[in-house]
Amino acid sequence: MSSGKPAGVRCIQLNEQNLCKLFGQPSRPKVCHQFKACPIICGKTDQEALDNLIELEAIT
Ligand code: SF4
Repeated sequence: MSSGKPAGVRCIQLNEQNLCKLFGQPSRPKVCHQFKACPIICGKTDQEALDNLIELEAIT
């Protein structure tokens, strides 16, 4: 996303399976490459991850 991804907006690079279309490519943003998945943030399901992100966005 040319101006960055606003909070609460689905990234346009996600495919229908919620996988990054840029994974492994040099065009993938550096911040995305540096993020390491962890259970505290990602939870065990897509819904848990979304709930955690919404909470983090609300408190920051
Ligand atoms: S890793 Fe980055 S570029 Fe890929 S889908 Fe997630 S936010 Fe978008």
